[in-house]
Amino acid sequence: MTRQRTLAEPFRIKMVEPVRMTTPEYRKQILRNAGYNPFLLRSDDVYIDLLTDSGTSAMSDRQWSAMLLGDESYAGASSWEKLETEVKDLTGMHYVLPTHQGRAAERILYGQLGGKGKVFVSNTHFDTTRANIEFTGATAFDCMSDESLDIDLELPFKGDMDIAQARQYILQYGPENVAAIVLTVTNNSAGGQPVSMANARQVRALCDEFGILLVLDGCRIAENAYFIKHREANYSDKSFREIAQEMLSISDAFIMSAKKDALVNMGGLLVLRDKKLAEKCTNLLIISEGFATYGGLSGRDMEAMTVGLQEVFDMDYLHYRIKSTEYLGKHLQEKGVPLVKPFGGHAIYIDAKNFYDHIPVHEFPGQALVCDLYEQGAIRCVEVGSVMFGKYDAQGNHIAPKSELVRLAIPRRVYTQSHIDYVIDVFDDIIENKHQSTGFKITYEPPFLRHFTATFQRL
Ligand SMILES: *Cc1c(COP(=O)(O)O)cnc(C)c1O
Repeated sequence: MTRQRTLAEPFRIKMVEPVRMTTPEYRKQILRNAGYNPFLLRSDDVYIDLLTDSGTSAMSDRQWSAMLLGDESYAGASSWEKLETEVKDLTGMHYVLPTHQGRAAERILYGQLGGKGKVFVSNTHFDTTRANIEFTGATAFDCMSDESLDIDLELPFKGDMDIAQARQYILQYGPENVAAIVLTVTNNSAGGQPVSMANARQVRALCDEFGILLVLDGCRIAENAYFIKHREANYSDKSFREIAQEMLSISDAFIMSAKKDALVNMGGLLVLRDKKLAEKCTNLLIISEGFATYGGLSGRDMEAMTVGLQEVFDMDYLHYRIKSTEYLGKHLQEKGVPLVKPFGGHAIYIDAKNFYDHIPVHEFPGQALVCDLYEQGAIRCVEVGSVMFGKYDAQGNHIAPKSELVRLAIPRRVYTQSHIDYVIDVFDDIIENKHQSTGFKITYEPPFLRHFTATFQRL
């Protein structure tokens, strides 16, 4: 029997980016100046940045060297040919449209499919997905089971779509009005939880029954494939790429923010099977993003994306990715920090309502924890609760969402295990001082997406 060894990084470092530690007094001062909103901090004042996994990946030596081969021709660049070949091979779809990031692909596709009276059904629409759909005048419905939304239940595929709910919406609005079913893998807004192949096949069957287009929002399709290989019967012998290809083979369209599982800092993809739809989308692409062979990307961006799409399915990479996220979760759990379970692929979510149970939801316990993590440890993360999703009733009273979470998102290939150990250590101080922590009131908020720019005052 081989003994368990430490989870060492499957890479070594040949270029370093210094990060600077500051004093708690300094951080208290500048957090106050930033209105207690970490989005308004300078990144130089952050030691460990767990704000998002989007566009924050470290590229490999192969990606950086591929960038030197970037062909910056306006049309028909060789860098484009490489990307197109790679994406066609991965997706099995013929029409590849490059975009500058995921939401540009969404705007183009949903702008084409949406409009007043149209309905979209999803396991969970990511916020930019919902915004792009609603912007066209269409309506977006999320279909999740109560079990999946229970943050304490330990189930293997909590990202799955609730098929019965989806069917209900189709029958209620009429299949002719359902523009598409959008399957988000992994289910980002539901805690980075995976979607099973069995569920994807049920969604396909539902689409076939009613003649509806199936869009795979696959920003984290490699991470999702890891969970299928390890949790779903009959997939243990398949490669991660084969599993992703199988899920793509039953989809009609693929949208990807390359800032996630393509391991680049900027980029996106819209990939389609249908020629007519592709022609319409290509027209919109050329109007708003760029010519069809670059769509807002430089040749070097496309080179890096091509290599990233290969590297992300590497066994050592994916194993480390999922296990290192789990490592953070396990150690926080051992300290008694209440977490959403099972652990997702790209982030650990803390149940702040439970952890800071002395702070009422209208005083934002999640924001309190986010601010404490910054003040005490120079760690930046984001509240996913009343600040992000809270609403007001007619009398101006706070309506809280179902849960008050804090997300620690892990950038890909950026932090080592000792950085994560540091984060875990900071929680000793957080736990010790948690009863001294106080809530917040909002001093400024914009009408939309308030978490980005709102400011606060400590109570
Ligand atoms: C990030 C993300 C998007 C949007 O992509 P951007 O590159 O940020 O525009 C869409 N869907 C999901 C599931 C995402 O995680």
